[in-house]
Amino acid sequence: MKASPLAVRLAATTMAAAGILWTQYVYPPGETVTLGRLPAKWITGGPRCMEETDWQVHEYNPDFYILRQSGCTHYEKPFLYLIFGQERVMLMDTGAGVNEVSRIVMRTIEKWKERNQRNGIHLLVMHSHAHGDHIAGDAQFVNKPNTTFVPANVAELEKAFAIKPYPTGLGAIELGGRRLDVIPVPGHEDNAIALYDRRTGILLTGDNLYPGRLSVRDWPAYVASAQRLVDFTADKVVSQVLGTHIEQTRTPFTDYPRGTLYQPEEHPLELSRGDLLEWNSALQRAKDAPALIARSAYTIMPRAAATPEQMQQSREEFERMQKQKESAKWGAEGGGR
Ligand SMILES: [Zn+2]
Ligand SMILES: [Zn+2]
Repeated sequence: MKASPLAVRLAATTMAAAGILWTQYVYPPGETVTLGRLPAKWITGGPRCMEETDWQVHEYNPDFYILRQSGCTHYEKPFLYLIFGQERVMLMDTGAGVNEVSRIVMRTIEKWKERNQRNGIHLLVMHSHAHGDHIAGDAQFVNKPNTTFVPANVAELEKAFAIKPYPTGLGAIELGGRRLDVIPVPGHEDNAIALYDRRTGILLTGDNLYPGRLSVRDWPAYVASAQRLVDFTADKVVSQVLGTHIEQTRTPFTDYPRGTLYQPEEHPLELSRGDLLEWNSALQRAKDAPALIARSAYTIMPRAAATPEQMQQSREEFERMQKQKESAKWGAEGGGR
């Protein structure tokens, strides 16, 4: 029996009243997306690093996992994504600094196999882009059995995901009964891609859009990438927009200084399609003139807008901050001696 939108809404209300996790989302005709759950809080980096786990593995739903690296191991605290299909599981990014990402990923895959009574599944490792805080664990996956490793460079991306050509053409990753669309998004970095998961309606935007400081190296490319993302999603359900960092606090227009490890009041990871549209319209308005653009949940920061003196000043400030945070990371009694 096909439920009418009203019936769906009533059922949702009844189930919510009964304390069952449900959603009042009414599916557009012909669309079905499988949603999941985001945590109320992520690990960040402390306040006492001896007590905190280095990685948080969050089950968004049984076939979609989000990994957060703790600030206790690296101040960038990136988010990684592990998405399962019938034949392949895809890992996006390998973390920052010296880390144990492979151990965490393989353990999660083992548990998934046990839960699904599977003997094996092929692992595909790829990247949102080529910056150091997203590829640091690469060596742990290169030349490993039952693993395909796609380096973060345009030639390899075009070949692996049938992008014709980068950045104007789209590509795809087939995981077996699950397709991820690949949308080239250079601008923050030259080899960047976004992913759209048709199953959950989640758009993964990497470092291009997340709650924090969005640094832009190539302004025209970045502006075009924003429009490409909006055009691509125009006829699709976008349930959530998920990036790869959080630097913003819960207070509008306020971020944590670069290098912060512990962020007890950090902004949620998820942004909405509304944020995506606001981001794009600000960029289209600025068009050919790189400008610092502050919005409630993020700030767009063209690198060309900073003078060498400002760059030097910010480097010094960052190093000072790092020292201070590092010495405090074990807690009041343990730090700074
Ligand atoms: Zn980056
Ligand atoms: Zn990053």
